[in-house]
Amino acid sequence: MIISGTSLAAEIKKGVAADVVKYKEQYGREPHLVVILVGEDPASVSYVTGKAKDSEEVGFKNTTIRRPAEITEEEILNLIGELNEDKGVDGILVQLPLPKHISEEKVIAAISKEKDVDGFHPLNVAALWQKQECILPCTPKGVIKLLDKAGVEIAGKKAVVIGRSNIVGLPVSKLLLDRNATVTMCHSRTKNLAEVTRKADILVVAIGRPKFITADMVGEGAAVIDVGVNRDPETGKLCGDVDFAACQEKASVITPVPGGCGPMTRACLMENTIECYLNQVAK
Ligand code: NAP
Repeated sequence: MIISGTSLAAEIKKGVAADVVKYKEQYGREPHLVVILVGEDPASVSYVTGKAKDSEEVGFKNTTIRRPAEITEEEILNLIGELNEDKGVDGILVQLPLPKHISEEKVIAAISKEKDVDGFHPLNVAALWQKQECILPCTPKGVIKLLDKAGVEIAGKKAVVIGRSNIVGLPVSKLLLDRNATVTMCHSRTKNLAEVTRKADILVVAIGRPKFITADMVGEGAAVIDVGVNRDPETGKLCGDVDFAACQEKASVITPVPGGCGPMTRACLMENTIECYLNQVAK
């Protein structure tokens, strides 16, 4: 079974759009998401455009603030400070990566925790690891929603996560652990990776290498979630970390790329913006 992130994301956004209508009547304004884009990296431009498109679709007020790559760290921190203070702004997202002269750490920490729609702020991350209320990071949240949608039982299962980045691998592992999976985290130093992955009931792959996961690395009947977004070196088309055509034969459920985790990340961003908005209007 192929789990379509595109159709699940559409379902989620439909729910968000209905909430926007309801809340606008109740609180007198729609949620407002501000996305900051520094520079003109084509991938970042395309991600930001997608976020603006989704925001429009669900009825948010959305503002994209574009700044040149030469902007200083101080200028961007000041901009974030102003947006933090603005009561008409609910969510702030700075598109990563940033130019080298700007510290991503400082920028992420400067966004108010309450407006941190990405769930990257250190206090949100700490809250996640301490099982406290927090804004969940979008991609990991989307991974769990995809598994739930496919009816994959998580509790008691062997989950293997490849990748340990702050934005995908680590939080995905934590969310699976919180759902009572037994989690094995793999990375570039993992020895005999295929031996580990073959035993997985649930395999989540977030490496960033085209078609890295071959059929011999997937156990019969595993649920495979492919977070990777790459260019196929042969065709130049978008592809995941998983060799989809080959692994589809072994997996019980599998996500495609494109059309899997990507749209889910954006749908979860819409949900997170509503969460931040509700906190703001409740103040
Ligand atoms: P990242 O920060 O580069 O992390 C990659 C991880 O993969 C690292 O933990 C690395 O291990 C591990 N790795 C690299 N080569 C490996 C190998 N040969 N065997 C096992 N593990 C290996 O990347 P990321 O930000 O997590 O992103 C991963 C992928 O997901 C990328 O393709 C990215 O574009 C995609 N992504 C998609 C979405 C979405 O919305 N769909 C969102 C975010 C990211 P070490 O820690 O040992 O270096």
